[in-house]
Formats: sequence, C-alpha cells, structure tokens
Amino acid sequence: MTAVSALPAVLAGPDRLDRSLRDVRISVTDRCNFRCPYCMPKARFGPGHRFLPRAEALDAREIIRLAGVFASLGATKIRLTGGEPLLRTDLVAIVEGIARLGVPDIALTTNGALLRRWAGRLRDAGLHRVTVSLDSLDPAVFSAMSDSRIGLSEVLDGIAAARDAGLEPIKLNCVVQRGVNEDGLLDLVGFARREGLRLRCIEYMDVGATNGWRLADVVSGEEILERVGRVYPLLEESSAPTAVARTYRFADGAGDLGVITSVSHPFCGDCTRARLSVDGKLYTCLFATSGIDLREPLRSGADDDTLRRIVADRWKRRDDRYSELRGLGIAQGDRIEMSYIGG
Ligand code: SAM
Ligand code: SF4
Ligand code: SF4
Repeated sequence: MTAVSALPAVLAGPDRLDRSLRDVRISVTDRCNFRCPYCMPKARFGPGHRFLPRAEALDAREIIRLAGVFASLGATKIRLTGGEPLLRTDLVAIVEGIARLGVPDIALTTNGALLRRWAGRLRDAGLHRVTVSLDSLDPAVFSAMSDSRIGLSEVLDGIAAARDAGLEPIKLNCVVQRGVNEDGLLDLVGFARREGLRLRCIEYMDVGATNGWRLADVVSGEEILERVGRVYPLLEESSAPTAVARTYRFADGAGDLGVITSVSHPFCGDCTRARLSVDGKLYTCLFATSGIDLREPLRSGADDDTLRRIVADRWKRRDDRYSELRGLGIAQGDRIEMSYIGG
C-alpha cells in the first residue's frame, strides 16, 4: 500500500455542481450499544433486527485500502463513524492503517460510552480528534434519548479520557429535539464552555425511514442561537468554505458554538463529502437511495487504479443536493439508515 504523499496528484472531481471530494465518512459497523430514537428506534432495531453478517462488512484491511484510494483522490479528512465505531475491536488497527497512509485529519464520531477504554490506544494509533454525541446532561433525558442501560457518567468519563489522551479539540454533537431535550440546552452550553469543548447543535434530520421525523420536532439553528445568545452573547464567525456548521464565538472568549442547519439552511453547495457504508458501498449523499459497490471489485482483485477510476467516475456524475430539494418540497426516495451509511 502506498502512502498518500507518494501518490500522483489524481484528484476526483469536481462533480456536476463543482464540488471536489475532500472528506470521507466511513461507517465501520451498523451495530450500536444505544438505541437513540432519532437514529435506531428500538421498535425497528430491536431483538428481531438483522444486522449485517460480519462476512459482509469490510474488514480492517479493506477499509484501510479504500481509505487509501479516497486519500489518493484528494480526500484530506477521514471520519470513522457508524453505528457505534467503538464496538469494533479492530478499530485501533483501522486507525493505525489509515494513519500510516499519511491522511492529515483522522477523526472519530462516537457515543462515548466505551471511550474511556479506548482513548489512549486510539491516540497512540494515530487518531487526531474525537466528536462525542451528548444530547443531555439530565440523566433521565439522557437515558430516554439513548434508550440503553448505559449511564451518562460513562460518557462523561469517556470525554475526560479523550482529553487526557490529547484527542483535542473535542467536539460535542447534540441533536436538539422539540419537547425532548430543548430545555437542557443551556446546561449543555454551560458545560461545554467550562470544559473547553466545542458544542455543535444539530437540527433533527429526516435521515433513514424509521425515526418518524416531523418538521414540528425540529428546533431550528436560528432558535438555538437566539436562546443561547440571550444568556451567553455570541459573535458570528466566518466559517471555512467547506464547513457544514455555522460557527459563532462567545463574546466573552469562552470558546464557540456551532449550528448544523441542514433542515433550515442547507449547505449542499459546499458538500465535499462521500460516505462508505459498512459493506463497502460508496454513497455521495447522506440522503442517497442507492450506492455503488466497491466491495465486489475489491474482493475480486481490482488494483488501486481501477478502484480510483470507479470512485472518480461516480464522483464526476454526482449532483446530490437533497437538503436543498427538501426545502423546495421536492425531495423523495427510500433513504438509507444513518447507522449503515455513516452519520
Ligand atoms: N454512534 C456514534 C454517535 O452517536 O456519535 C456515531 C454514529 S451517529 C449516526 C453520528 C451522528 O449522527 C451523531 O452525532 C448523532 O447524533 C447524529 N444523528 C443521528 N440521527 C440523527 C438525526 N435524525 N438527525 C440529526 N443527527 C442525527
Ligand atoms: Fe447509536 Fe449513534 Fe445512532 Fe445513537 S446516534 S443510535 S449512538 S449510531
Ligand atoms: Fe451533502 Fe447530501 Fe447533505 Fe446536501 S443533503 S449537504 S449533498 S450530504
């Protein structure tokens, strides 16, 4: 396998909307130790649910190989996600392999429950940053929103371990849902400010087909900023052109707050992101209804150049802009679940 720096500059793109491939999310498992109702509701992901058999999921070497293909096409950021990526016992080996490629930015999104156990080893393997999802500091709300027996203290310990390991800056993701956790928002903001964590509030999205999403349950980024700004005044900061979050600095200098407004203010025009599903399909949008199979060519012996060509050709034809179309009332299709495609 070749390190990124040694590869010729074969870049993918731009796509039909002039967006280059820069950022890849890899779902390493469709399993999870939580059952957040907005993502994997128990009614659909309960004991009867059939997860992907292990042989169908990419193994560590296959993930690393495809990460190398994406990196050689111009991706500079790889985020490992899922499902819950810390359920994969070979995650350290995956991170090690991707780090060896020389990828400049390797990040992990996790629910944090197992982070205490893994933070140090992941840092040693070459992980740069971690994002922990935390929807509430109220133990009862936390339990309802994660729908598991794992307690809030496990996640808080995981965040502390990530800091001790130097996996910084640590981001917190919070999905704000009307009537569910909106009242705890200011507590979470206070916690993030005290602890030096970068809170990102995400508008509740209509991902997948099982969470019963309703527009009425979305708390808009604008409302979030208004509520937070009343207590902790905010100054707008210009976001980098490819950033998905609009970022605001606290006027007193105590860090920043991001809002991810994919429902109220979609950012498809800046979307440079591809997704690799657990079983090796390439998706060019979070709301895609189909992907192209990279596992089959990979397992039947395709070389890196062939894989690069498949990805680059698909990217060139990309015209996804689901969130913008949703805003126009014309989005449709059977969407793939987020745990499979990678949140
Ligand atoms: N299990 C890991 C976690 O929760 O961080 C990684 C996978 S999870 C699918 C990735 C992110 O997607 C999480 O921050 C989660 O809050 C977010 N997410 C899941 N369902 C969502 C939805 N319906 N709307 C907005 N964000 C969602
Ligand atoms: Fe699991 Fe993350 Fe989905 Fe929650 S958001 S069910 S932790 S994959
Ligand atoms: Fe990117 Fe698709 Fe989300 Fe638009 S809807 S920002 S194209 S992932």
